[in-house]
Amino acid sequence: MDYQAILDQVVADVSAYRGQGTVASYIPSLARADPHKFGIAVALEDGAAFVAGDADETFSIQSLSYVFTLNLALQQLKSALWNHVGREPSGAPVSSIVQLEIERGRPRNPMTSPGAIVVCDQLIGRRPAAEAADELIGFLRERAGDQGIGIDEGLAMSESQAGAFNRSLAHFIAAFGNLRNPVEDVLGLYYRHCSIAMSCRQLARAALYLAFDGTDPVSGDAVTTQSRSRRINALMLTCGHYDNSGDFAFRVGLPGKSSVAGAILAVAPGRGSVCVWSPGLNAAGTSLVGAIALERLVEATGWSVF
Ligand code: GLN
Repeated sequence: MDYQAILDQVVADVSAYRGQGTVASYIPSLARADPHKFGIAVALEDGAAFVAGDADETFSIQSLSYVFTLNLALQQLKSALWNHVGREPSGAPVSSIVQLEIERGRPRNPMTSPGAIVVCDQLIGRRPAAEAADELIGFLRERAGDQGIGIDEGLAMSESQAGAFNRSLAHFIAAFGNLRNPVEDVLGLYYRHCSIAMSCRQLARAALYLAFDGTDPVSGDAVTTQSRSRRINALMLTCGHYDNSGDFAFRVGLPGKSSVAGAILAVAPGRGSVCVWSPGLNAAGTSLVGAIALERLVEATGWSVF
């Protein structure tokens, strides 16, 4: 398959849509993003990477980080993690507090903000929060094969300053007894992990192991078990796009995770991984142009899991 030709065609196909959607505005550095930006990168089993557009430009990974913290927390806690967070799609906006009250502080799934706050808390465990952040950064550097990956600390600071909503969620979870660490320690890790700067190329490479049952097909590293890898993919498919997850499965047909910065990371089991970035979001908070691009990619490659 000529992946470069396919990606070039995807870029041509989405050109009419570029600039559409609404850029997140709750912090200045996201509000400044140019909605015309568009990048896409595909990583394959043999280590080949195909890219088009702004695929080497870095952006904050935001909630794409939830996928990787979930992986690390599952490694540490194994099934005990599920005592603290559920596995059902939410059908609600990413940071709904209503559902959290009904379900008494146990978030619906790890792909929502409250779910990720709980996963961060569990990942910290009994050590300093900074150690958990270092572990995550080390993991991403190794997976992406790039030691230059790091946290944009200025961005993490402005996330925290604009963070009244997440602070409310975290206190609410704590009120139900589902946080073991102080709220500010947990949110410190949460904001820092949302503020990791990566490009489409790096993200597609970092997620490649999820397309090959937990083993990095290039390095041979057993990153996680087959069953955990499949379960992370199941959660991405059913919960990875807030209350847009059903529509994304219908249109694209791949496990994926979208973020407020306009990136979507998706996994095609046995085939490869892909990351697309374009900052304009649809009404549910998924990259508008990014989702169209993935639809086109899947049509051209036959990558749907269905
Ligand atoms: N920093 C964002 C938040 O929690 C990340 C969420 C996202 O990408 N949806 O508010």
